[in-house]
Amino acid sequence: MTMMDKFSSDSDIAMFEEIQTAGTSFEHADVVSNDAAMSFADPLEIWESEQTRPAYFSVSGEMTTSLSDSFDHYIGPCMQHPFLPQADIKAKQFARIKYLVEMAYADIPVYRDKYIAAGFHPSDLTCEADIDLIPIITKPELVAAFPGRCINPRYAMEDLFPTRSSGSSGQTLLIRVDPDAIVTDTIQGVRQFALQSGLKYGPADLLTHVYTVPWWFPSIGGAYPGAFISSVIPPERVAKHLKDLAPKILSCYPSNLESLLPYADEFKSSLMLAVTHSEYSAPAARKAAAKKLGVPVLDEYSSEEATRIALELPCGHYHVCEDSVRLDIVDPVTLAPQVKGQSGLAVITNLLNEAMPFIRYMQGDCITEPARPDACGISWKQLESIDGRMNDAFINAYGRMIPAGSVLDITYRWMFDCGINLAQFEIIQKAHDVVEARFIPGAGVDENVIVGSVGHLEDLLGLCLEHKVKVQAKVMASFPAKTGKRRPIRREI
Ligand SMILES: [Zn+2]
Repeated sequence: MTMMDKFSSDSDIAMFEEIQTAGTSFEHADVVSNDAAMSFADPLEIWESEQTRPAYFSVSGEMTTSLSDSFDHYIGPCMQHPFLPQADIKAKQFARIKYLVEMAYADIPVYRDKYIAAGFHPSDLTCEADIDLIPIITKPELVAAFPGRCINPRYAMEDLFPTRSSGSSGQTLLIRVDPDAIVTDTIQGVRQFALQSGLKYGPADLLTHVYTVPWWFPSIGGAYPGAFISSVIPPERVAKHLKDLAPKILSCYPSNLESLLPYADEFKSSLMLAVTHSEYSAPAARKAAAKKLGVPVLDEYSSEEATRIALELPCGHYHVCEDSVRLDIVDPVTLAPQVKGQSGLAVITNLLNEAMPFIRYMQGDCITEPARPDACGISWKQLESIDGRMNDAFINAYGRMIPAGSVLDITYRWMFDCGINLAQFEIIQKAHDVVEARFIPGAGVDENVIVGSVGHLEDLLGLCLEHKVKVQAKVMASFPAKTGKRRPIRREI
């Protein structure tokens, strides 16, 4: 099955006027690409040191051609998808999940054994509501099954794209992705920035990732070029590289963006959009960064297992990318569908990857779906908030979970209210009513002023936890170096 079969839709779908306009510019992509190919002939990769350049998988010429061909066929339906009637989106999603479940049951031992043990059979899937019947799979189960019992035997290992997920659990899951999934994911990336930029993103616009490794493809046949700057380079020099590259879109971890803000004046003039991803970021912090950069700063909620899960769009909502992923939100205890308006655990089904399927996989993040979604031109499911990792949530004396996002928002409130600037901080729950605040003061900030304002932090936390909270403030010279996602909010009880 090709990617186009998976996603093709009727050509007579009514489209929004903007999308038709966007479609016109996408059709001309190959024309523009010839010029763009001249200036972006070599991948724009900035490592500064060979020692930080890892050995990584590179794509074949055949794949590069396949990407360009697929783009021409798929970009139209891809751009239309978020505007389809919800019933059509659900129907396509259900058909795709049924296909993946049947395939996994037939060919992939970790799923087959699990489904048999749970008394579940693919024929139980008769309508969308039945998706809730599919047993949930966890990271430790897939770690134990890798590679023999979770990789699709239809693929040769050497044809697959390697990646990995580490995350806060400290447990690393190796992942393999099939070429069709990578191609689709790349094209959906163009759509991401088109949607997030309010359809301003065009084929000649440079995107720059400040990240660990570059994306698989440096461009799509020369169009939509992407540059890469290694995130281990100190922010002062990253800012200089950004000034030289002059990208339209900057994509990075929220913590990297934060570190670049003192140098914003140097590089911000070329930008039309900045996107944060991979780590939790507070809406208040994105707003502050947007003010400093003079362009929107929008979030991408994604994971290695699921690819893009949801995008923050100019309409002000997070919308689930419903042709990349199916997102279910479940009660943390019963694993039944969570009541709308209440935070629950994210369970994802990756709709792209057939080589190592993720079907109803426990993602571990806490998410809230709105009780009443706003009216919006985008049909994709709306999310009210992404509340951080489950094990980062605080727990009050009555057993209620307080999402890490709320705690992070309180921390920002405290900083804004007291006019203090922290270079780095960690907020750790030590007991139901004891919280440790570790921080490195920002440049020129008197640490006594911060310590003196801790009472306000106690008041804010007390409001949120619904009882008195004692805050122990600790001034730090530095935090121990960490790899992977930073967890400034965590619970140690
Ligand atoms: Zn919306």
